[in-house]
Amino acid sequence: MRNHVDVIVVGAGIVGLAHALAAAKRGFKVALFERTSPAVGASIRNFGQVWPVGKTGALFQRAMKSREIWLEASREMGVFCLESGSLHLAYHDDEMAVLGELYESVPELREYGELLTPAQAIERSPAVKLDGLKGALWSCTELNVDPRQAIRAIPALLEQRYGVELHFGTLVSGINMPTVETSAGVWQAERVYVCSGADFETLYPQHYAESGLIRCKLQMLRTVPQPDSWKLGPNLCAGLSIYQYGNTFAHLPSTAALKQRIETEMPFYVKYGIHLLVSQTAYGEITIGDSHEYGMTFDPFDREDINRAIMDYLHSFAQLPTFEIAERWHGIYPLVKGKREVVLEPEAGVTIVNGLGGSGMTLSFGLAEEVLSR
Ligand SMILES: Cc1cc2nc3c(=O)[nH]c(=O)nc-3n(C[C@H](O)[C@H](O)[C@H](O)COP(=O)(O)OP(=O)(O)OC[C@H]3O[C@@H](n4cnc5c(N)ncnc54)[C@H](O)[C@@H]3O)c2cc1C
Repeated sequence: MRNHVDVIVVGAGIVGLAHALAAAKRGFKVALFERTSPAVGASIRNFGQVWPVGKTGALFQRAMKSREIWLEASREMGVFCLESGSLHLAYHDDEMAVLGELYESVPELREYGELLTPAQAIERSPAVKLDGLKGALWSCTELNVDPRQAIRAIPALLEQRYGVELHFGTLVSGINMPTVETSAGVWQAERVYVCSGADFETLYPQHYAESGLIRCKLQMLRTVPQPDSWKLGPNLCAGLSIYQYGNTFAHLPSTAALKQRIETEMPFYVKYGIHLLVSQTAYGEITIGDSHEYGMTFDPFDREDINRAIMDYLHSFAQLPTFEIAERWHGIYPLVKGKREVVLEPEAGVTIVNGLGGSGMTLSFGLAEEVLSR
């Protein structure tokens, strides 16, 4: 029958792409609907860091499954996917103490990571400043993909390799199973995955309102390409990111001192949720971010004081051949604080998958495998 498929996926961000891939690999006839052409949501605005480090147990396994799929898919697509690993850099004794306790208490870190001396850390990346460095945590599990490449290449893979029908520039305006109304006509499907990211208003607004989902706005910057094929090496982060582990690993005795110092010395950073990650794109640019503001609707204008704070902190631990900024932007992702994701069934045959927060690139492929296997 015309306009009839097994599976419809709404949204061509990483969550929708992952569900389309998982469904297509299982032999289902899949149609993917994305209202813009191309997709310009959170998934092309991120760092492209696949970041298993700091996750434990089943969540770590999910991240590692995603990692495996990223490596396989990027090989097939011929796009950039660097097994970069990561360095957490400690410039204060309290930061080093947290890294030490994390390393001792998280089995995955002992398996895939290593505590480094300052001399060992600077060998891993020419960007790391030696002055004041106390040590670092190396992890080999992180990948670095280029979201602007990958999020555009995955639909082509879905279409060419798995025969997925792509409907970009097509809004899904209503679902009443088995009928799916779109701006290009009415469709029928056995199953629908709604992966609509920060749009809570178009489909099932009542269910979104009850889900506890809120939005987070993040500011980002990117340098011009670094000269002379200069390579960053691993993705970098420092004390502000180590401070963030205090929420997840609050039982570690050392987190209290770090928390107290950062909150006393760096209130602006705490207020705007600034913690710095640094990675390099396929074209040699350095992506730098980010801040975290929580709410439902945000000021559309970016704050230069946040960007300045990000750059000031970057200068405290990194040296780059050039810090010249070529681009500034922000992205918005949904989350429920304290939850890893939101999976809802608003009606039989429909699954909403959302709320992966700051881990969509890290977890979507693994989560989609789990959702499709239920
Ligand atoms: C600045 C920033 C940095 C980040 N860095 C990282 C990182 O390094 N690593 C990591 O793991 N995660 C990172 N994240 C998180 C990650 O980007 C998100 O978790 C992920 O992109 C969410 O994917 P999504 O598919 O849910 O949303 P989106 O990418 O926003 O996709 C949703 C899509 O659905 C479409 N849509 C919505 N409603 C409809 C409809 N009714 N009909 C048709 N189409 C519709 C939208 O147009 C949109 O394209 C970052 C996020 C941001 C913002």
